[in-house]
Amino acid sequence: MKITVSVIKADVGGIGGHTKPSDGLIKAIRDTVENSGDLLIDHYIGYCGDDTHIVMTHRHGVDNEKIHKLAWDAFMAGTQVAKDEGLYGAGQDLLKDSFSGNVKGMGPGVAELEFEERPNEAFTVFAADKTEPGAFNYPIYRMFVDSLSNTALIVNQSLASGVVMNIMDVEKAEIAELRLWEDKPTIEAALMYPGRYVVDSVYTKEGEPILDASTDRLHNIAGTYVGKDDPIMLVRTQKNFPATEEVGSMFNNPHFVAGNTRGSHNMPLMPVKLNSAASINFCIPIVEALVFSMHNGKLVGPFDGFSTPDWDYIREIATKKAITIRSQGFIHPATLVPSELEYAEGYKARMSVLESKMKPMKKEDKSNTDRKENYEDPD
Ligand SMILES: [Mg+2]
Repeated sequence: MKITVSVIKADVGGIGGHTKPSDGLIKAIRDTVENSGDLLIDHYIGYCGDDTHIVMTHRHGVDNEKIHKLAWDAFMAGTQVAKDEGLYGAGQDLLKDSFSGNVKGMGPGVAELEFEERPNEAFTVFAADKTEPGAFNYPIYRMFVDSLSNTALIVNQSLASGVVMNIMDVEKAEIAELRLWEDKPTIEAALMYPGRYVVDSVYTKEGEPILDASTDRLHNIAGTYVGKDDPIMLVRTQKNFPATEEVGSMFNNPHFVAGNTRGSHNMPLMPVKLNSAASINFCIPIVEALVFSMHNGKLVGPFDGFSTPDWDYIREIATKKAITIRSQGFIHPATLVPSELEYAEGYKARMSVLESKMKPMKKEDKSNTDRKENYEDPD
C-alpha cells in the first residue's frame, strides 16, 4: 500500500509581529487535526518562525480534498484564535474566504509525496521562514549536481546516473522537466535566479520520488505582494537517495536569500533548532530540519536536525554574514531589486517624487557617447 506524506504550512498570526505562533493558535490547529477521526495515520505539528506546519501521513494520495480541507480548517481555527488574541497578521496566508477542493493557490504552502514505503523509510522536512521558495535552489543544487558537496553523486549508483528535476517558472506558472546530466548547464542557468525559477520536485530516473517543495508565490496568487512565501520541502533520504547527512550538510554554508525584514532584503539562511521564533535581529532568514523515520505511515521523530553543536558554529557564520550585509543598509544588493520589493507601493511613491523632479539634461552635457566617438585608444 502506498503512503502519502503531506506537509502543509501557513502563517496565520504571530506574537507582537512576525515572530512565532502563540500556544493558543497551535492548540487550535492541533485540536482540529486530532479531531479528524481515522483520516490520518499520523501527524506532527510544529512551527518555524511565524509559519505553522502540519506533517500528515495517510493513504489518500496527493492533492486529496479531505486532507487539504483538514489543513485549511485547522488554519482557519488557528486564525480565529489569532484574531481573538490580537496576534499580528491573523490569517495572513489564507487568501480565500472558503475552501474549494485544494489549498494550492489559496495561500498555504504544500509539499507532498506518495510512494511505496521502504521497510525503514527516512525523510527530512525542511521548513523555512522570512525567505522565498527559491531559497532552496542552492542546497538542492549542491545535493544533486555538485560532487564536491556530495560524494554520493560519484559513489551512489542511482544518484551518479543523474536525477530528473522539475523547475518552475514562478512568474509564468510553467514547469520544465530537466534531466541530469544532459541538462546540467540549463539547470544552472535556471537556478541562477531564485526569484524566478524554483525547484518543484526531484525524481530518480526510474521515477521514484525524492523531493517535493512548495512553489506557490503569494504575490502571484493574490495579485499583490501580501507576504513572503516561506517555503517547505520534503526530501526522502538513504538508499537510492542522498543520505540524511548529505541533505542536511547542504545548509552548512549560509547563502544569501531574499526575504527577511519587510520581505525586501538579502540575508543569509541560518539553520536553527525546531520550533524557533524568527529573530528580531532584522528577521534573519531561518530553516529547520525535521528528521523522521516512518513505518506503515507511523512517524518516529522528528529528530532536530540542526540541534547538534556543530550547527552553533554555522549559526555564528550566518550571524556574521547577516551583520556584514546589513552594514551597507538600504544599498542594493542588501535590498532587493524593485520588482521583488514587498513594500513596492512605498517605493513607487518615492520614485514618483523623484521622477517629478527630473528634468531633461542640457544638450552640451547630454552624453558621454559623443565623447566616445572622439576617443582614441592609447594602444
Ligand atoms: Mg513566515
